[in-house]
Amino acid sequence: MSSLSLSLLFAAALVLRLITQLWLSTRQMRHVAQHRDAVPPAFAATVPLAAHQRAADYTLAKGRFGLLTTAFGSAMLLAWTLLGGLDVLNGVVRDAVQPRFGDMAYQLALVSAFGAIGGLLDLPFELYSTFRIEQQFGFNRTTLRLFIVDGLKGLLVAAVIGLPLLALILWIMQATGAWWWLWAWGAWAVFNLLIMVLYPTVIAPMFNKFEPLSDDALKARVQALMQRCGFAAKGLFVMDGSKRSAHGNAYFTGLGAAKRVVFFDTLLDKLSPGEVEAVLAHELGHFKRRHVQKRIVLMFGMSLAGLALLGWLASRSAFYAGLGVAPNMAAPNHALALLLFLMAVPVFGFFVSPLAAQLSRKHEFEADAYASAQASAAELSSALLKLHEDNASTLTPDPVYVRFYYSHPPASERLAALAALPARTVTAA
Ligand SMILES: [Zn+2]
Repeated sequence: MSSLSLSLLFAAALVLRLITQLWLSTRQMRHVAQHRDAVPPAFAATVPLAAHQRAADYTLAKGRFGLLTTAFGSAMLLAWTLLGGLDVLNGVVRDAVQPRFGDMAYQLALVSAFGAIGGLLDLPFELYSTFRIEQQFGFNRTTLRLFIVDGLKGLLVAAVIGLPLLALILWIMQATGAWWWLWAWGAWAVFNLLIMVLYPTVIAPMFNKFEPLSDDALKARVQALMQRCGFAAKGLFVMDGSKRSAHGNAYFTGLGAAKRVVFFDTLLDKLSPGEVEAVLAHELGHFKRRHVQKRIVLMFGMSLAGLALLGWLASRSAFYAGLGVAPNMAAPNHALALLLFLMAVPVFGFFVSPLAAQLSRKHEFEADAYASAQASAAELSSALLKLHEDNASTLTPDPVYVRFYYSHPPASERLAALAALPARTVTAA
């Protein structure tokens, strides 16, 4: 492939993606605005009009802001690549660092500088989203001070964990020859497994407090559920999610015997014990139906394919020139290749993302069915409705937008599916 044809292909994909994203977002906003005046009939008895309208307004506010971030993101991508931004940055960093500190320092500095500039450019958007939109709808509980501390801790984690991993990958690319991508994949896979252990035990506690679940009645209920489902976990924890946001959640984290269940305090505040049990049963369903395992295998397979593709591209000068960068003559090109690849892949990947969303929605239905068999469909339905209302999620999304983006089926579809399931047969003990 010549560099010109790659440039044209990339530019066409970028423009097509932008048009599709803007089209989908405007569809969604129009659909939500059109249905703002009335609660859909299926929810008329359970959702007040004011809550429905608040959800519509929240969706519209996020949608308008999303148009801006989408357009800005595409412009930045174009600026970094075809307009020569990365080429300029590379020249400056290479000339300043490589002669004195060598190849590795130059490449680490290039990736760090790229990350720092990207982070600074994103900062105004993050500030606006947190302190204007989330604030306006009463979700934000972060202070500016906490926001800054979080940012600094995030940088620290990135530096302590990310830089050594990057150095290892760059070294592998340099040292292991044509099959470097296979070695790099191995290193990446080990790193991911390591993170699954380190995240719950070391990283997450840097940002939040985790306390053992102290509500004995709820604890007994949850433990009975886990026993019924044949699921062992190291502990049940409550996380102070309310420190940053009013949005509620529950999740599993960890690997093997280190698995733990984490409830946001905001979730426990809103749901009854029966509803918490049903939400947890849904999460257990993701394990029992092997969704988590399938996702991990899929992720590892995709990264292997991606690295093999990069292994092929990285040795071709047309790959660099086609994306707006002159390859280095007297320095390694590995960091450049990684950066270009990480920028280009999502542009093309966007067009297959509906497949991933569809698989995810299928899994959600299966986990709901599992929860209704192990806990209660009625409790899960009322929990979903409460979470929807609390998060101001719209009940009337655009169907095309849903097919493209939604990782979870819309509430109307989930509740209808739950209502159609046979109720759990409770055997008297
Ligand atoms: Zn789920």
